[in-house]
Order: sequence, then C-alpha cells, then structure tokens
Amino acid sequence: MSTATQELPMILAEVEVTAVELISPTFVRAELASEALADFGVDGPLHDQRIKLVFPTDSGNLASFEGADESWFTTWMEIPAEERGHMRTYTVREVRGQGADTRLVIDFVLHLADGATGPGSSWAATATVGDRLVILAPRRGVPFGGIEFDPGAARNLFLAGDETAVPAIASILAGLPATAIGTAILEVPVAGDVQELAHPEGIELIWLPRDGAPHGQKQIATVRDHFGLPPVVEPVTDDAVDPDLWETPTYSSSGEELDDAAVVVGHDLAGIYAWIAGESKVVTTLRRALVKELEIDRHQVAFMGYWRRGVAMRS
Ligand SMILES: Cc1cc2nc3c(=O)[nH]c(=O)nc-3n(C[C@H](O)[C@H](O)[C@H](O)COP(=O)(O)OP(=O)(O)OC[C@H]3O[C@@H](n4cnc5c(N)ncnc54)[C@H](O)[C@@H]3O)c2cc1C
Repeated sequence: MSTATQELPMILAEVEVTAVELISPTFVRAELASEALADFGVDGPLHDQRIKLVFPTDSGNLASFEGADESWFTTWMEIPAEERGHMRTYTVREVRGQGADTRLVIDFVLHLADGATGPGSSWAATATVGDRLVILAPRRGVPFGGIEFDPGAARNLFLAGDETAVPAIASILAGLPATAIGTAILEVPVAGDVQELAHPEGIELIWLPRDGAPHGQKQIATVRDHFGLPPVVEPVTDDAVDPDLWETPTYSSSGEELDDAAVVVGHDLAGIYAWIAGESKVVTTLRRALVKELEIDRHQVAFMGYWRRGVAMRS
C-alpha cells in the first residue's frame, strides 16, 4: 500500500472501498477504510469537514504517494495530467468504527440531469468494494482546517444548499446541540433523494425536490420567502460568478476586506448565522439577497461555491 510517512501533518493514504450503496437516485454512499485512518480526528464535531480524494487516471492507475513529504502537492502536480489522476473535494458524512477499523463515509452525487460528468461522479457511478482511492484528511491533534461552519454565539441557524451540500448539512445537523433552532433548506434533484436526517427538534428541515425545475430556482424562491424578500430577483450574469466563490468571515475569494467589525447590534437579523453552499451561481444569488438586500453582517454568513456549472474542479 502506498501510504505517506508519519511526518506529514495530515493523513495522505490509500483507502479501500469496504461498502458501497446507491442510497437514492442521486447519491452513492461509500465507506472508505485504511489502517492509516486510525489517526483520523477532528477537534470537536465534524460539522462540514472537507477532505480531498484522488481518483485513478482514465486508464485506472492510482497515483502513489509512497514516502510523500511536505512537497507532495507540487510533486504530484508535476506528474503529467494523464498520469496523476484527479483530485476532488468531498465532505465526511460520517465516521464509523475506531482505531485501525475506522471508516469514513462519503456521499457522492451522481450528475445525472445535465450529462456533465467528471472523474468523481463517474468513479462513484461504478464504484465497487475493493476499489482504491487516495485520501487527504485531518490527523488527530494537528490543525487541518476544512471546517467552515462556525456559528459562534448565534441563536438562529440558517443552512441552505443543493445536493452537493446535503452531506455537509447532514453532518452539521447531527453535531448540533439538541437546543439549536433554525432552518435548513435542501434542494435535491428528485423526491427520492429526500433522506431521514437526525436533527434538533428546533431546526425545521425543508426539502425541495427540483423535479425538473432549473437548478436553484426553488431554493432561491424559498430562501427569499423565508426572509420576507419579494420573489423577483435580478438575475446574476455568468461573468459575475466567481467559480471559486468562497466568502466566509475568515476568507474572501473576491478579496473583500476582512475587518474585525462587530455584528451590527439592533439589526433584525443580528442573532442569525447563515451557512450556504452549492452551485456557485446559485450561491452568488443567495449571497446578494442576504448581504446586499438584507445587509446581514459578513461575520454572520458563510457562502461556499461547491461546484460551478460547466467548470471542472481544478486538480
Ligand atoms: C468543501 C466541498 C465539499 C463537497 N462535498 C461534496 C460531497 O460530499 N459530495 C459530492 O458529491 N460533492 C461534494 N462537493 C462537490 C464536488 O467537489 C464537485 O461537484 C466536483 O466538481 C465533483 O467532481 P467531478 O469529478 O464529479 O466533476 P468535475 O470534473 O469537477 O466537473 C465535470 C463537470 O461536471 C459538472 N458538475 C460538477 N458537480 C456537479 C453536480 N453536483 N451536478 C451536476 N454537474 C456537476 C461541472 O460543472 C463540470 O461541467 C464538495 C465540494 C466542496 C468544495
């Protein structure tokens, strides 16, 4: 097995699929195992913990990270594109087992509606027990990053996302205190993708099966209605969409200033924390609603483009 040396601050190791199941029309759930995952660990709840997966090349070869050191990424990127495989980002939906028997559960979205597929979704469509990938994941006790959900003292939570954000929202909900209150809006391709999710009683779950409607249309309408905004929304033009959209209290992909200004006391929405992820144009549209129209402080919001229509993830 090609597993990196212990010196790396994170886990970089080959993992094997030990179980795989099509849990609904759009989601393939895979359990990934490796003795190296005995060292997997996050300081606190998993929330939206992201990890990276390296998929095999088109001819089925999986890159080896044997003996990898701190320069592993540069070394990997120097391998010709057709030989290195593809790296993509996913969310840890759940951790099962412990010690050398630790398994990470990942829910993979199949891109069925658009016919636009990529290495991640194509791999998931044919995944079988025994398949191997490489994982980059947090090592217990070492800062790794990759968790954006950070509501601080907010009293009212607002979560929204499309199918790619369902694993993160599910994991966030599972880790919340029983007293948490708020709303989670989840847009999925079809009614069959609605899942039973563990969640605090005070969090209302709103599932929106698209059933053929344009991506984001129902979500945008529901979010606007939730906040009492008029239904009409000025369309966001394609060139106004940042495919790498990532606007959180601690990072701005557009270069916005991150100051220390406190939340505006007295604002109707001063007690809210909003976490929104999914297709970048949809997330941009929702960001405008919350930040420009409702003037919610940027310290209370996190907007993450998990993918961009027509744009393959870079690796
Ligand atoms: C922090 C984070 C966490 C994520 N968690 C998950 C997760 O748990 N599960 C999950 O499935 N995805 C998740 N994603 C999204 C996933 O990384 C992207 O969808 C990624 O593009 C998939 O790679 P791919 O190889 O299938 O497609 P790519 O090669 O990246 O793209 C190929 C084509 O497919 C299109 N495409 C990409 N995603 C979709 C989609 N969902 N529906 C329709 N078309 C699409 C692209 O626009 C492009 O045209 C996450 C992303 C981030 C940033």
